Order: sequence, then C-alpha cells, then structure tokens
Amino acid sequence: MPRLLHLLAIPLLALTAFAAHAEYIPKAARVAAGVYAIVGPLGQRSADNDGLNANSGFVVTPTGVILIDSGASRIGAQKLEQAIRAVTAIPVRWVVNTGSQDHRWLGNDYFASRGAETIALARTAATQAQFATQHMTGLERFLGERLQGTKPLPATRVLAGESASIELGGEKLLLRYTDAHFPGDAMVFLPKTKVVFGGDLVFVDRILGVLPFSSVRKGQQAFKTMVALAPAHVVPGHGRVCDLAKAKRDSGDYYDFLANVVGAAAKEMEAMDAVLTRHADLPAFRHLENYADLHRANMNRAFTEFESQ
Ligand SMILES: [Zn+2]
Repeated sequence: MPRLLHLLAIPLLALTAFAAHAEYIPKAARVAAGVYAIVGPLGQRSADNDGLNANSGFVVTPTGVILIDSGASRIGAQKLEQAIRAVTAIPVRWVVNTGSQDHRWLGNDYFASRGAETIALARTAATQAQFATQHMTGLERFLGERLQGTKPLPATRVLAGESASIELGGEKLLLRYTDAHFPGDAMVFLPKTKVVFGGDLVFVDRILGVLPFSSVRKGQQAFKTMVALAPAHVVPGHGRVCDLAKAKRDSGDYYDFLANVVGAAAKEMEAMDAVLTRHADLPAFRHLENYADLHRANMNRAFTEFESQ
C-alpha cells in the first residue's frame, strides 16, 4: 500500500511542478461586435508570460485588424498574433500604442516586419524612444534569452494634437492623452461599440501604481474625461474587462482619494508621515492585488506631486 501511494505521488508532483511553470498563452475574448480583449496575468513580467502581464486588444475590420498594444517582446508579439489568428485570418494592418511602457509597444518591430503600420500620438512615440534602453535592460532581467530578437521600434506614424481620430475599414478610433502612468500615455475610444481601451489609466483587480514620473492630477482629470465618454465596456490596462462602475471603484475613486485627500493635505502643508499613516488602511481598496506593496508608496508620490504645485 505505501508503495502504491508512492507511485501515485510522482505524477501528482510532476503536475504541480508543471503548473508552477505553465507558459502563458494569450487568448482573445469578445468584448463587442468585432472588438476583442486579450487579458494578461496580473503578476510580474516573467519568462513564462513573456512580459504579457498587461492587456492588449484588437478590432477586426474588413480591410485589416487594428491591434491595440503589441506586447513586450518579439516572442510575446508572435503569441498575440496567434491569439488573433484564432479569431480571424485577416492580417494586422495597424498597431496602435496606448503608451510607452514595455508591454505596450516592444512588439511593434515584429508586427512592422509582418507589414503593419505602427501608430501613436506624438508624445507617446517620443516617450517610447526616451525609455527604450531602460525598458530593454529591465526586461532582460525578467525574460532572459526570451527577449532575443526584440528591437525597440517607436511608433512610426505619429499623430499631432491633444487628441486624434483615425479610421480603418469603417472603424473609427479616437485617441486622447491621459498622461497618468507614463507621460504621453493615451486611451483609445471606439464610438461605434462604445468600448474604451484605457491603457495604464485604468487598473482593475489590482491597485494602480504611481511611478516617480506618473501624474495623479492628470490621471484624475483623464479619468473624468473617460467617464464623460460614457463607455459601455472598459478594457483596462490591467485586470478583467469591466463596466464603468467597476473601473471607477478600482481606479477612479483611488485617483480621487490620492488627489482630494492626500494631495489636499500636501497643499495644506501637513506632515507627510502623519498623512500616510492616517490613511494606511483603506477598506475600499485593500482587496486589490498589490495593495500592501504599493499603497503607501502611491500616497508618498501623490503627496510629493501636490506639494510642489
Ligand atoms: Zn502597465
């Protein structure tokens, strides 16, 4: 009997080990007619997920597929292409980037080599060029040799103005700056289906991160702009596709808290440490992943931003 148990234990252990190192295979999920989201895992970049720990999406038109955000590497981009292939044989004609963070655009070069045009607002493309080396160095640590073949290609068709409207195959896309997570970040709205791709303005299921160069003030403004569009579906930058109410609970309300409570205290010249300690435990947001790691640092950066205004 012990010997039988022993025999049974081996395949179980093997299965467990396999699950711990399961490769992430992106899958498209329908959001609205012709509109799909590819929702990535919530955790950190890894060789198993090829840096696809963020959301992408695409719009199928009769004249070509419009991909929104191209993944973090050449291999990641190939995986996204496979996910699109599972839905349609129509090739990717356009790649639109919502931001300059690695997983938004480092797959551009792959799709360009397949004949796609890469498109972004001007400041998004400029920030891509500015961060390219830093992001490649950072990714190397997480992806190792799976980063091989990846060449940073900032979007080549740059759109002027604070917002821009482009159209392919009868599908209109409105791009508008958010400047929240990275300078030059943008959101993409599809008026026909009322779907918004929020890019890194919107995090659900996990708490948003305020980086040293992020802007809580601009994030709060951009979120209000997004609300005014009255989207029927929100594809967040990270987390599951949701409605506006959930996006507001997980991101909009948090921007409001950071600006109206922490920012206001900074403007009143209160002591930062006392403010951070007072708001260390927020029941409205503590269910979000990464809350314990990021909440205090987020408040710290919000305080610093509003203090200097
Ligand atoms: Zn991101």
